[in-house]
Amino acid sequence: MAETLFSNKIVLSSDEIWRKCLVNIKRNVSQMSYNTWFLPIKPINVNNSTIKVLLPSQFFWEWIDEHYNSLIHSTIKSVIGPDANLTYVIAEETEDEQIPETIQQPKKVEKTEQIKKPEFETFINPRYTFDNFIKGEGNQLARAAAGAVGDNPGGTSFNPLFVYGGVGLGKTHLIQAIGNRIIQKFPSKRAIYLSSDIFTIEFVEAIQSNKVNEFSNFYKNMDILILDDIQFLIGKEKTQDLFFHIFNTLHQSGKQIILTSDKPPKDLKGLNERLISRFQWGLSADIQPPDFETRIAILKRKASDFGLSLPTEIFEYIASHIVSNIRELEGCLIKLLANASLSSREIDFNLVKKTVKEIATTRQVNVTIEYITSIVCKFLDVGEDKIRDKTRKKEVVLARQIAMFLSKELTRSSLKTIGLHFGGRDHSTVIHGCASIESSINTDNSMKELVDKIKEKIELDSN
Ligand code: ADP
Ligand code: MG
Repeated sequence: MAETLFSNKIVLSSDEIWRKCLVNIKRNVSQMSYNTWFLPIKPINVNNSTIKVLLPSQFFWEWIDEHYNSLIHSTIKSVIGPDANLTYVIAEETEDEQIPETIQQPKKVEKTEQIKKPEFETFINPRYTFDNFIKGEGNQLARAAAGAVGDNPGGTSFNPLFVYGGVGLGKTHLIQAIGNRIIQKFPSKRAIYLSSDIFTIEFVEAIQSNKVNEFSNFYKNMDILILDDIQFLIGKEKTQDLFFHIFNTLHQSGKQIILTSDKPPKDLKGLNERLISRFQWGLSADIQPPDFETRIAILKRKASDFGLSLPTEIFEYIASHIVSNIRELEGCLIKLLANASLSSREIDFNLVKKTVKEIATTRQVNVTIEYITSIVCKFLDVGEDKIRDKTRKKEVVLARQIAMFLSKELTRSSLKTIGLHFGGRDHSTVIHGCASIESSINTDNSMKELVDKIKEKIELDSN
């Protein structure tokens, strides 16, 4: 066996170890990937065989975990030894939902001194702020109202504040920005964010475990309730009833309610009339697709956040082809960065055209996690209930992981939501599942064919 640094008793510092790792990594990836994904990683310390490194952002962590997991692990094993382990710390974080539990967050310690940490998870993502929300004609009213509510929750006539508009236009960003403003300005107020489908899932769990009262009291005790995508409550009578009571309790005591939906309240067919009328008590503000100038401003801001500098013509090309969804604008930049770094190509016009086209193709698909799961289960002949329970049987694990992978690829759900759909698994299990399928696809042709076939079937049926 090759001698390792540790078996040799030459104890190196984390800097030295990481430098050795970088030498190996550099040999295995393009210069661009190296610069983009590896140079920004900073070693923190090394303890036994575990090296801890600092990553600049959540996005980095997800990217590296998905694409370079095996390279990193084989590298540290070759440098440190067979027991080598790597843990990440994310610099800018927070109580973000997507950070692995094992991670300790250095800055958080400083933060907790100023801001009293609530005894519950707020699910408010600190990355969504008013500062990084670009103003434009399409979001003027919603932005202004959100600002007012953030400065004076429960104290304006905008209660509830109801923000509506199409997919990817910034509803979630805006309402979470309100949450962040409130946490900062009024640390003693209890604010919580959640999506209506999570609210429904939690409610069903509460029924099953006989904890409906606790569930309902928990939300009735909030000072600010931010409920996203209220259209998910359509057809869920019991959840609507419960929400109606929570709404009343909060509203009567001057607590702030913030809601979003893909449509204005009056168009929410299938939602109880008494809820719809309450939604109209406050202010409904829509978000319209951004105009050309706003799209350019958003692209420039996001590109600079990613450390990407691009010629104006490229921004203009993207902004004139992706017109009605800000998530797609952002997705386009991420894809560009990814395509360029994986194939060590410069970001040129051809790559931009190809990337914009890819985004237009995936746009066709609009499917749910349940639907994906049902197709995967049919294909692999696995019971749908098995996928949600604890079974570790090989074929069930495979089906579960493929369904997670496709849910991540084809729906806009967060890792947390995907995990909840698969028997309440946490986001790191989802990441692991997706990474494992991704690496099989890359190394095993029959796996690639299988996943492609399932995907084709899903796309075919959903159009
Ligand atoms: P929605 O909830 O309406 O589907 P999101 O709030 O999730 O949309 O927005 C999608 C992505 O676009 C997010 O990453 C968000 O940060 C970004 N985004 C949306 N609107 C803006 C804006 N005005 N300025 C900057 N980023 C934005
Ligand atoms: Mg949203």
